[in-house]
Amino acid sequence: MRTLITNIAELTTNVAVGDDPCGTMNDAAVLIEGELIAWVGTTEGAPSADEVVDAAGRAVIPGFVDSHSHLVFAGDRAAEFEARMAGQKYAAGGIRSTVAATRAATDDELRARLRGFLDEMLAQGTTTVEIKSGYGLSVADEERLLRLAAEVTPEVTFLGAHVVPAEYADRPDEYVDLVVGPMLDACVPHAKWIDVFCETGAFTVPQSRRVLEAGIARGLAPRVHASQLGPGEGVHLAVELGAASIDHGTYLTEADIDALAGSDTVLTLLPGVEFSTRQPYPDARRLLDAGVTVALACDTNPGSSFTSSMPFCIAVAVRDMGMTPAEAVWAATAGGARALRRDDVGVIAPGARADLVLLDAPTRIHLAYRPGVPLVRAVWKDGASV
Ligand SMILES: [Zn+2]
Repeated sequence: MRTLITNIAELTTNVAVGDDPCGTMNDAAVLIEGELIAWVGTTEGAPSADEVVDAAGRAVIPGFVDSHSHLVFAGDRAAEFEARMAGQKYAAGGIRSTVAATRAATDDELRARLRGFLDEMLAQGTTTVEIKSGYGLSVADEERLLRLAAEVTPEVTFLGAHVVPAEYADRPDEYVDLVVGPMLDACVPHAKWIDVFCETGAFTVPQSRRVLEAGIARGLAPRVHASQLGPGEGVHLAVELGAASIDHGTYLTEADIDALAGSDTVLTLLPGVEFSTRQPYPDARRLLDAGVTVALACDTNPGSSFTSSMPFCIAVAVRDMGMTPAEAVWAATAGGARALRRDDVGVIAPGARADLVLLDAPTRIHLAYRPGVPLVRAVWKDGASV
């Protein structure tokens, strides 16, 4: 099956041309063959196909690559959000209430919730999603959450070190022993990534190092939650261990930025978190100007960011974090792919996965310019219209 999309007013390929990292093309066409992109060019020179979709002057971008989510959980924390909007401060410990609800849920309940979130994301243009554990915090429950996540994505992250569970509150090092021992043994078969929340109220730098090094020794690739609630050593640890990404990075020092700029570690900004916890936004402009590779992700979770909308994150990143619309769209597609060390998604080029979004707008600028408006008109995932 060959599907040709023609008359694309603005095509974002993310194949850099000159000083345009978005590789923007006008009056473009894309040929999908099976699950892959077969050809990209102008409408005039387009090859024949079995099916032709006329974009009629609209924009096409790569499917969003959401490289940070926590989608396997039960319950919600609406009351906590309400209290926070009334002035209460966010603390990492709120994670424990979701842990209790998640442990009490059945596999089928968690699976139904997870699939609901994925449908919600697909409808908003997200075609690749990373999913973390971290609401089980026991050997059996962490294994269970990763097994459920692996049913729907290859980008599965073991985050047993999300927070110290209540039953280990006075003995955090014993909990780390569990994470790097029996829990890691049970989780390795389902996971690609190892992650840790390196933050005051979660895990110290030495504890985080233990977790990451144990995962690396078992073949998992590292990524790190750090510098969300205040400055710390998490960025340096992530860079030293060659992490694919450090996520949050709301409070960064000049030394952190220098370390990131000279590394292959992506900084994944999560605007939904600052929005939902009423924290100051990170200065993406400063990071981009320093040469740091920036990704945008939703961090969908019931505590600190219960949005699954990449267009929303783009709008906030442009409005409040100093990114241009082009930079924000790149960060939400190619940036997310870099954060997952993938080169087959986040890009529209021959041989890449045929994951595309047709916007009901003539340019990607509208994603920030028309916040809150459902602009996703059509989505292809692995070449199939969904
Ligand atoms: Zn997170």
